[in-house]
Amino acid sequence: MRPDLFDSLIAGPCSAETHAQIIQTAEGLKGLPLSYFRAGIWKPRTQPGAFEGIGDIGLEWLVDVRKRYGFKICTEVATAEHVRAAAAKQLDMLWIGARSTVNPFTVQELAEALQGTGIPVMVKNPVNPDLKLWLGAIERLERYGVQVIGAIHRGFSVYQKTKYRNNPHWQIAIDLKQARPDLQLLMDPSHIGGRAGLIAPLAQQALDLHYNGLMIETHYDPNVALTDAKQQLTPAVLTELLLNLKPRSQNERAQNDLAELRDKLSIIDEGLLELLQERMELSKQIGILKRNSNTPILQVQRWEETLKSTIEKALNAGLSSEFAEHFIKMLHEESLRIQLELSKTNDAR
Ligand code: PEP
Ligand code: MN
Repeated sequence: MRPDLFDSLIAGPCSAETHAQIIQTAEGLKGLPLSYFRAGIWKPRTQPGAFEGIGDIGLEWLVDVRKRYGFKICTEVATAEHVRAAAAKQLDMLWIGARSTVNPFTVQELAEALQGTGIPVMVKNPVNPDLKLWLGAIERLERYGVQVIGAIHRGFSVYQKTKYRNNPHWQIAIDLKQARPDLQLLMDPSHIGGRAGLIAPLAQQALDLHYNGLMIETHYDPNVALTDAKQQLTPAVLTELLLNLKPRSQNERAQNDLAELRDKLSIIDEGLLELLQERMELSKQIGILKRNSNTPILQVQRWEETLKSTIEKALNAGLSSEFAEHFIKMLHEESLRIQLELSKTNDAR
């Protein structure tokens, strides 16, 4: 990844599952300029009985990643107990998940537990599309001296199935950025998209919309992941994705070129309309002549010759014969309609 594309890049598995899984994933990521290596230790699951995280032992594995690869490490905290356990291992950053941001009691508990630890925090958006709740959680933490360094946009819950797992509601993230330009705004395309195939276009969008960074779930083998298997990327796929991101300036240039070509198209279309108007004017004059000289409107031979020569000329010009046929028939039909109208006005007189 070009280092100037984003300020922050967070990658690592949705959940810490085994020591080997954590190490294998970190090994795959070691060439990337990660700001933090992530892994969920305590997992908020929708269904009881699902894998609810490996617990405190996962912190040891994260510490091992820091030691072996030099990555800073982070995890999600949802209770004061989580904060104490994470602080004891000197985690470098903690994030607050969507299901916690939504609840001011939880945020209050976390703010009190975080006070004085000095650990920076990132705050995911709440599950419901409420900008004030997101900003309120950030402010609640700050009132306890917590250094909130970033906000993470992970999308908002939906009932109906849509293209995305979570509805992005882009405007909320844009408004948050406007309200708090001092914070980093990261996109979590994994939870917005919910599918591996959507992560790359969302990451590009993050770049185009001037986000400061990305949090992307990464697993050495997503097929065997215990949580969020569909949306995790292998380290190799993540590396490829980052290499393929088009820098903003390049994208802006493409947009400018596109606008210029579209302007040219509009000018040609206007010219075509003027020519059509002229053509129909001529057709009217011919109609008047035909009417006054009692000449039949449709002259089959002349029409057949016109059709044939138009198709020939179109083919010579590199246009398709179907298009040429369609086009000249439409023009002819309209001319006939105009001339028939004229003959009716004559009958009426
Ligand atoms: C996660 O990052 O794994 C997670 C549970 O995220 P969210 O709070 O966005 O659902
Ligand atoms: Mn997840």
